[in-house]
Amino acid sequence: MDVFGLLGNPVGHSLSPPMHETAYDELGLEARYVTFEPEPDDIGAAITGADALEIAGLNVTIPFKQAALEHVEPDELAARIGAVNTIDFSGSGPPTGHNTDAVGALRSLRNHGVTIEGARAVVVGAGGAGRAIAFGLADAGATVTVANRTESKARDLAAAVPDATGRGLEDLEPLLADADVLVNATSVGMEEDASPVPADALHGDLAVLDAVYQPLETRLLRDAAAVGATTVDGAWMLLYQGVEAFELWTGLDAPVEAMNETLRAQL
Ligand code: NAP
Repeated sequence: MDVFGLLGNPVGHSLSPPMHETAYDELGLEARYVTFEPEPDDIGAAITGADALEIAGLNVTIPFKQAALEHVEPDELAARIGAVNTIDFSGSGPPTGHNTDAVGALRSLRNHGVTIEGARAVVVGAGGAGRAIAFGLADAGATVTVANRTESKARDLAAAVPDATGRGLEDLEPLLADADVLVNATSVGMEEDASPVPADALHGDLAVLDAVYQPLETRLLRDAAAVGATTVDGAWMLLYQGVEAFELWTGLDAPVEAMNETLRAQL
C-alpha cells in the first residue's frame, strides 16, 4: 500500500483526497491519500518523518509551501519560484521538491485553446500562486506583467521573472487593453462577490483564468463571460496541479476525466 498525502494547516476542507483516491481506484492502485496538519514550526520534522515512514509523496499547501523548500532538493523551477507544492520521496537521495501550480495554470489555459507562446499576460497578485503562475507563463513564452495591490511586491517578482514588468492595480485598465491572457492570483472573489479587476477593463479577446475555485463562478469570471472573453475557472488549475503531482509520483498517465468529475462533484 502506497501512502500519499497533503501537508497543510488547516487541511480539513481539502478537495485533494477524493480527487487522488479516484485516480487510484480508476487505475487499480493500492494507495491512499491522507491529510496531515503539523504545527507551523514542525514542517522540517514532518518531511523527515514522512521520508522515514516511506510515505511515497506529499502535496504541500498553506502555510508550508515556502518553508518546505528548505527541507527538500528543489527542482530548478521550484527553486526559482521559491515554493514547493509537491514532494517526491521515491529516489534514494533526499526528497525532491516540485511546484506543479505553474504547470497546472498552463495546462488549464491550453485545455481551453489558449496559446501561451507570444501572449501578453497580466497576472494579478504576487503571492504564492502569482509567483508560480508568472514563472510558468514566462517560461512558456508569454510576456508577463504582474499587477499587485502592494506594488513593491509586483516589482520584486517581476525582477526575478524573465522580461516581466511589475505594476500597481491602478494600471490594470491600460495594461489589459493590449493583453491576451489575464490571471487572477489574488484571493479576491473567495470571501465576497468582488473582483480585483474593473469590469470595463475586460474585453472579448482575453482569456481569463481565475485561480479562486470557491466559488467556481467568481465575479471576475462572470464579468469576463459577459464581454465574450474565454473563461477558465480555478478548479481546472487545481485539477491539473493534482494531475501533474500524480504523474510525477506514479509515472502513470492520470485518469484526468475521472479526477475532474470527482473534484467538481465537491464544488
Ligand atoms: P497569498 O500568497 O496569500 O497571496 C495573496 C495575494 O492576494 C497577494 O498578491 C495579495 O496582495 C492579494 N490580495 C489579497 N487581498 C487583496 C485585496 N483585497 N485586494 C487586492 N489584492 C489582494 O495567497 P496565494 O497562495 O497566492 O493564493 C491566492 C489565491 O489563489 C487563493 O484564492 C488561493 O485559493 C488560490 N490558489 C488556487 C490554486 C488552484 O490550484 N486553483 C492554487 C494556489 C492558490 P498584497 O501582496 O498586496 O497583500
